[in-house]
Amino acid sequence: MSAIEVIEPATEQVMAELPRAGVEEVDAAVARAKAAFPAWRGVAPADRGALLHGLADALAERLEELATLEARNAGKPIGDARGEIGMVVETFRYYAGAPERLLGQTIPVAGGVDMTFREPLGVVGLIVPWNFPLTIAAWKVAPALAAGNCIVLKPAELTPLSAIELEKIALEAGLPEGVLNVVAGPGSVCGARLVEHPDVAKIAFTGSTEVGRGIAAGAAATIKRVTLELGGKSANIVFADADLEAAAAAAPGAVFGNAGQDCCARSRILVERSAVDDFLAALAPRVESLRVGDPLDEATEMGPLISADQRSSVAAYVPDDAPVAIRGTAPDGPGYWFAPIVLAPVANSERAAREEIFGPVACVIPFDGEAEAIALANETIYGLSGSIWTRDGGRALRVARAVEAGVLSINSNTSVRVSTPFGGFKQSGVGRELGPDALEHYTDVKNVYYATGED
Ligand code: NAD
Repeated sequence: MSAIEVIEPATEQVMAELPRAGVEEVDAAVARAKAAFPAWRGVAPADRGALLHGLADALAERLEELATLEARNAGKPIGDARGEIGMVVETFRYYAGAPERLLGQTIPVAGGVDMTFREPLGVVGLIVPWNFPLTIAAWKVAPALAAGNCIVLKPAELTPLSAIELEKIALEAGLPEGVLNVVAGPGSVCGARLVEHPDVAKIAFTGSTEVGRGIAAGAAATIKRVTLELGGKSANIVFADADLEAAAAAAPGAVFGNAGQDCCARSRILVERSAVDDFLAALAPRVESLRVGDPLDEATEMGPLISADQRSSVAAYVPDDAPVAIRGTAPDGPGYWFAPIVLAPVANSERAAREEIFGPVACVIPFDGEAEAIALANETIYGLSGSIWTRDGGRALRVARAVEAGVLSINSNTSVRVSTPFGGFKQSGVGRELGPDALEHYTDVKNVYYATGED
């Protein structure tokens, strides 16, 4: 087995080496999960909930250690990493309450009693990206376990370390052997094997739309259930009547958070034409003063990009003649640094406004009036998230209903809460994570009719 060298993006140094799994390891993990399934689904609901609470406690105890690991491996500011591991804990706690609440129905029918059950699927394959490694894993692992499934989790090759820790911590917290199995290896080998494996009932994938398309096609061969959380090119719509200071204060976090490597990044800032100059004037000092640097420094607001490849890919969206209106700063030297950039004005038809850049580059796109704002927001293959800034409540709700996206916020840039559904419209995905909705995607409905001998 060859080795995976895990690189720390802020230093370009190797921070760990681990065996690179292949098809054999995936098959062995699926076999372990399959063997563990009958006993795991049979664990009493309250006991399954108690195990998930125990896992949440164990993760909370190791919060600082996990946050540091994630900050180093994914290059994210330590404060953000703490927040993310905090959400991981919260996710396990939320779904710890679920096993006893997986309710069925009774349905009035003639001649007997009809009832439904929500049954676990069996072995589920979870494939996650490198931008929020443990957070996105937890969004899948927690509801899958709560519903009684066994898991093979494949982290991204660039960021496998926190998932490997999760597996160890889960065992220490009392999760039975074989219920959660982590396989670290290339997507084209390990991910692809999970997708084709006949004993895997479902794939839950988060990653790029391109890979998601292949997964949907591959899963068709064995009629696997599939949920997909894919890319985005979300709109941050700022009307002239908005609190421009508040909108400008929130905009950098909405697009430069996680160095722009965020599926929810509001990377198209649509600004009503009459407010463009004032908005840019309010935005400039906030972008120029963003503290880009060492992820482990408490003052850091933005870290490096994940890899040299990612940096080249982002740089290609800012050619020498790009209309750079605002440019922040970034350190020199080792590390995959990239200064935050705002391009303005940009037409929605331009490449930087159409494609998911997945880096700290935002486009300001002027618009005239509500109808054009909606049309521009929807003129994309994606439909993940978005924000609407206005003081007109009626307009806020009209626009929120008209924008084709799964997760919208009004006068805010919040996308994600453990208790609310998260996922995309259009080519941003299929299915929902978090909240009660996620549980539906880790269960199938069974209908049972019991004839009672009545007419
Ligand atoms: P990616 O699609 O390259 O990889 C994601 C995962 O899929 C990795 O674990 C990878 O190893 C695996 N993979 C790659 N090829 C595969 C194949 N042929 N079969 C099976 N698995 C395969 O994505 P990435 O570069 O790690 O992450 C960035 C992308 O993820 C962006 O497009 C971003 O928008 C998206 N993303 C979406 C969400 C969301 O919730 N909608 C959240 C985070 C990231």
